[in-house]
Amino acid sequence: MEKKNIDWGNLGFGYMPTDKRFVANYKNGAWDEGALIDDPMITMSECACVLQYAQTCFEGIKAYTTEQGKIVTFRPDLNAKRMADSERRLQMPVFPEDRFVQAVVDVVKANAAYVPPYGSGATLYIRPYMFGIDSVIGVKPATEYQFRIFTTPVGPYFKGGAKPITIRVSDVDRAAPHGTGDIKAGLNYAMSLYNIVDAHNKGFDENMYLDPATRTYVEETGGANFIFVTKDNKVVTPKSNSILPSVTRRSLMVVAKDYLGLEVEERPVAKEELKDFAEAGLCGTAAVISPIGKIVDHGTEICLPSGMEEMGPVTKKLYDTLTGIQMGRIEAPEGWIKEIM
Ligand SMILES: *Cc1c(COP(=O)(O)O)cnc(C)c1O
Repeated sequence: MEKKNIDWGNLGFGYMPTDKRFVANYKNGAWDEGALIDDPMITMSECACVLQYAQTCFEGIKAYTTEQGKIVTFRPDLNAKRMADSERRLQMPVFPEDRFVQAVVDVVKANAAYVPPYGSGATLYIRPYMFGIDSVIGVKPATEYQFRIFTTPVGPYFKGGAKPITIRVSDVDRAAPHGTGDIKAGLNYAMSLYNIVDAHNKGFDENMYLDPATRTYVEETGGANFIFVTKDNKVVTPKSNSILPSVTRRSLMVVAKDYLGLEVEERPVAKEELKDFAEAGLCGTAAVISPIGKIVDHGTEICLPSGMEEMGPVTKKLYDTLTGIQMGRIEAPEGWIKEIM
């Protein structure tokens, strides 16, 4: 297979259509068999449920080339399960989890020429999503749905090393108590756009959202979970029903415990504790870990002892071990690496 002529090292995080996308349609109570198609455009009713009432959810996964030259993806079964949870919560039909994983495999295979080579730092980003497509004007779920997966090559998240970021404690909430914070719904992102633009305008990289009920505990950012490292090297991650269960975060906790022999805790993390941590990071599929250098809480600055120049030592070990597992340099736990070709 001949790779596309793409300057892998200089790709950004943007959309570039590739040759094939997977589409399945739900109609009359059943999914069709689905197909890989060429057309990147979607035609739908002006009154489609997704356009009027935002009935849509999505996932994010990466495919990449390992040191051994294999094209693989990372724990897609967890994305399949999380997508099914999102679908149920949004009153959408579940696309069966085994078919989800198979469709990921098929669409990556069909776009293998766009999977960046090992060592480039670039990956093929995979975006599964579902939306209500038939016309709905009274507020109710759609009866027809489309499940699609497109892929797009994306560049290394950190060009020239992972520089610690500065985040602010947000005055706006991300998710309501007992709301939709724990699913990957488009609506959770729509409401975050104003706040992230405002954060960027004021010189911050991200928003730290607090628990919406008491505003005393740390939850997550708009698109990534937190991990913290205590001064005695415990890895701590916030626990709350309104946090999106990140695959990266769950994997990092296993890496911390089983590969690095560190103590791990998933528990409520009070905002008051932030000043006591040694290291902090954001984790998600796109960057794996973004180190945090500074947290600003309305005029009070918390500067992490790891500083603004590089990742803290434990964060770095976590990052190197998980990316080592993903890239085939370190043996993976059973079932983590899904070989595509
Ligand atoms: C997708 C997402 C994450 C990261 O999840 P991963 O499975 O690690 O990519 C974290 N928080 C939110 C709100 C997200 O939507």
